Amino acid sequence: MAYSDKVREHYKKTIAEIREGGLFKEERFIHSPQDAEIKVEFPEGAELTKVINMFSNNYLGLSSHPDVVKAAHDGLDARGYGMSSVRFICGTQDIHRELQNKISKFLGTEDTVLFPSCMDANAGVFEAVLGEEDIIISDRLVHASLIDGIRLCKAQYDSFKHMNMGHLEKKLQLHQDKRIRLVVTDGVFSMDGDLAPLDEMVALCEKYDAMILVDDSHASGFIGKTGRGVHEHFGVVGKIDIITTTLGKALGGASGGCVSGRAELVEMCKQRARPYLFSNTMPPVIVAAASKVIDIVSETTERRDKLEANTKYFREKMTEAGFDIRPGETPIVPVMLYNAKLAQDMATDLYAEGIYVIGFFFPVVPQGQARIRTQLSAAHEREHLDKTIAAFKKVGEKYGILGLKKKEIIEKFGL
Ligand SMILES: *Cc1c(COP(=O)(O)O)cnc(C)c1O
Repeated sequence: MAYSDKVREHYKKTIAEIREGGLFKEERFIHSPQDAEIKVEFPEGAELTKVINMFSNNYLGLSSHPDVVKAAHDGLDARGYGMSSVRFICGTQDIHRELQNKISKFLGTEDTVLFPSCMDANAGVFEAVLGEEDIIISDRLVHASLIDGIRLCKAQYDSFKHMNMGHLEKKLQLHQDKRIRLVVTDGVFSMDGDLAPLDEMVALCEKYDAMILVDDSHASGFIGKTGRGVHEHFGVVGKIDIITTTLGKALGGASGGCVSGRAELVEMCKQRARPYLFSNTMPPVIVAAASKVIDIVSETTERRDKLEANTKYFREKMTEAGFDIRPGETPIVPVMLYNAKLAQDMATDLYAEGIYVIGFFFPVVPQGQARIRTQLSAAHEREHLDKTIAAFKKVGEKYGILGLKKKEIIEKFGL
């Protein structure tokens, strides 16, 4: 069909509807490397503003770390820029194997296969290991990429209420007649910062003869005593059949993902996962830098410990200041505001104070649970946090919400 006026009008109208719904996503152009402080052009064409970044997945501050940048340069020199091939044709170098082995050692798994992204890992893994006779039972709030991967696979599907172990047990009982049961969860749920109770989930999987897959994208590198992930936090290292995770967040933040776990399951991904078979290999420059990142997090917990201290400090001070902070221990710290407009207005005011955050509201989070989600980083120094807390206090005072409980905020602003 030609791109007729009628077709063009259709898309224009749809885009206008997205705008009217308050759901239009605008890019903010950053004119500096990713770090605790960034220079932002927003709105487009505006003067550059230097702001404290409270909103990135750069949890360990490794995205622009000099050792990682140097490793990238060295990798570029040693192995070139592109591979112009998928992995199994002529796109696998020695450094891909080396990185896979390092990741397996770090996560405490049997084997690992790299993908261009974790989205691709999730898109490929289910179809590679399950068939029509099998069932996937997932938490209802799993990441969009898991949902897509589940859709692409022929296995049957069921779900359990978010982190509700009683409900999961019922579903496991219900599906005892299936050939293979696979329970699926995020390790850390990124909107609330909740940790999936992997100890209980593993026990249920053992009791009802099920496998478990955990997407640890918001955990790998910093959750658990030595940063291995949520499985370390709950003492179930070696018991997770499949871990998928990203190299695009704490672990250097460039791109790439993996499936890591039981050797046969990883092998099945190499044989069958379509993004592995039909999408280009991870470029050497990123592989080399990611390898350095895994060395850093394997050798020392220094950055992970600093992140933990930053998280504790920020959570304490923000709670003291009178904000309604969703309790927890992850560096994802949602400041609950419930009302969508309040979340948007406060984010705008905070930006004017030099703090980069964004308001989240329906449909990104459930109706009536609008918030400003902050994320801590090991790149933050005390002064960044203090400045952020002071700005939050100033803006919180302006809207008269300091010290207010959920009910009072809703009474004052509505939902
Ligand atoms: C970010 C994220 C992904 C996607 O990772 P990419 O490597 O950027 O594709 C997948 N799953 C979860 C839970 C994530 O948070």
